[in-house]
Amino acid sequence: MKQSQILIPTKKEAPSDAEALSHQMMVRAGYVYQVSAGVWAYLPLAYRVIRKIENIIREEMANAGAVEMMMPGLLPADLWKESGRYESYGANLYKLKDRRDRDFIMGPTHEETFTALMRDSIKSYKKLPLVLYQMQDKYRDEDRPRFGVLRGKEFEMLDGYSFSADQAGLDAAYDKQAVAYRNIFDRIGLDYKVILADSGTMGGKNSQEFSAPAAVGEDIIVYTDGDYAANIEKATSQFTGVQQEGTPAELTKVATPGAHSVDEAGESLGMPSSQILKSMLFMAKMADETVQPVMVLMRGNDEVNETKLKNALDCLELTLATEEEAEQYLGAHPGSLGPVGVGQEVKILADEYVKVLVNMACGANDDGYHYINANLDRDFRVDAFGDFRLVQEGEIAPDGLPLKFTKGIEIGHIFKLGTHYSKQMGAQVLDQNGRLVDVIMGSYGIGITRLLSAVAEQQADENGLVWPDSIAPFDVHVIPINAKNADQMRVADEVTAQLEAANLEVLLDDRKERPGVKFADSDLIGLPIRVTVGKKATEGIVEVKIRKTGETIEVKVEELVNTIQ
Ligand code: ATP
Ligand code: MG
Ligand code: MG
Ligand code: MG
Repeated sequence: MKQSQILIPTKKEAPSDAEALSHQMMVRAGYVYQVSAGVWAYLPLAYRVIRKIENIIREEMANAGAVEMMMPGLLPADLWKESGRYESYGANLYKLKDRRDRDFIMGPTHEETFTALMRDSIKSYKKLPLVLYQMQDKYRDEDRPRFGVLRGKEFEMLDGYSFSADQAGLDAAYDKQAVAYRNIFDRIGLDYKVILADSGTMGGKNSQEFSAPAAVGEDIIVYTDGDYAANIEKATSQFTGVQQEGTPAELTKVATPGAHSVDEAGESLGMPSSQILKSMLFMAKMADETVQPVMVLMRGNDEVNETKLKNALDCLELTLATEEEAEQYLGAHPGSLGPVGVGQEVKILADEYVKVLVNMACGANDDGYHYINANLDRDFRVDAFGDFRLVQEGEIAPDGLPLKFTKGIEIGHIFKLGTHYSKQMGAQVLDQNGRLVDVIMGSYGIGITRLLSAVAEQQADENGLVWPDSIAPFDVHVIPINAKNADQMRVADEVTAQLEAANLEVLLDDRKERPGVKFADSDLIGLPIRVTVGKKATEGIVEVKIRKTGETIEVKVEELVNTIQ
């Protein structure tokens, strides 16, 4: 591919709102173009990376026995009314009307759609187990889309769903998906951890997240140098002495159907410190079940957030106290709480009456009050009373090793759904004994476009992107230093032809730009190997540079392919 014929709009400056290195570099390197906040165009280079990731996914899904198909993104609201999520999903759900005033949504995920398909297509256990997947754009009206394509309002997801007539079928499908996910992330070249997540509706080890450690990660991974790794909500429920599996199981049941109760509740708050709020609500709910009814106090000066908080509370079946009740409670417990601001304490209180009190300053969404990268225990303390508290760094895990904390980007999530959706939507099959049984489901997701950010976060340097071989948009960047020099162009064409004959993908910088511009762009674009064709072209010698290490060697043209491969 000739660089003069492809669109790579590189930039010297990063957009002013780009906090994350991956965001800065993907824009500067001409990979992505922001159409609107959280809505991105994937330019030719990024699109090639996405296609490569999709191909890796296709191969691994095939190995795991999963079958690809495609659902619509535009969905009738009725489907989501059946599952209950039309109301409970929260503010992230895009709701719209058609010309006949019928309700529709833009799909943020597809449990309902696949459950309906099963209900209407499969009547017997003999057709199961089945694992279906798609790679499709999802729509979520994220409150704070950020870090470039890491958190978008439209993003591409691999979402898969398994269906079986018995638990063993679910377990087998889940395990195969877990292996496939590891293979996918290994092949992509990411550093990641497999962590325990909410234990869900059936207890036990039935939800795991794949999390890529990175400074901009919005999740807290709690892990040891041994085998243990979990997200902080899960770790808290495991280590704080509160009923272990029971509580989160209940939580999932009363909250939104599916995996994401605590998660989505916290998220629908749309607070930048979502991790903290998630944990607070989580604990509030635990208190609800282990102590007494819960009172959550919010003093909002922002209507939008108040609505969001209410949604989140509904989702957890917590009650929102009136302003009056709150004042009363505060009056009886002077000084127990103040509005939450940067550096101030958040307290969750419980006494014999009670009462978990969470006071959130909605001003936190004002400029200058964002809890960017807020870290529990460092920036905030949660004081808990009774038998619940948050897990601490340094605590000893079951494997005898001290817990460590790190930030991570959620890149994938697998989940044993059980019969939640099939019950709700009437997806049943006849089993071996001719009895109707609810189909047992699992759901599995990877953020395909988010992977670009995760890789860039982990591997970019101050000069630009650095792509792993497996997903680089091209394998080799061939750069004739002077495109007006006939010898250099001839050798560059020759080199390109040789490399292509060896099945390598080549981007040939045929532009009549200054060498400085070409090299700077080349570093930004970040292909694994650069071949520079310069003065020694007439002697048949070119320079090979490895983007990742910066290592440079001179190579004879005829030895180039062997050297590179
Ligand atoms: P998060 O906690 O980051 O909001 P989630 O738990 O809501 O993610 P899931 O519903 O589990 O996301 O969706 C499966 C995968 O889709 C996630 O693991 C993540 O990689 C990706 N994903 C979710 N939301 C977004 C988004 N707004 N932009 C890009 N990728 C996303
Ligand atoms: Mg999540
Ligand atoms: Mg989310
Ligand atoms: Mg998730």
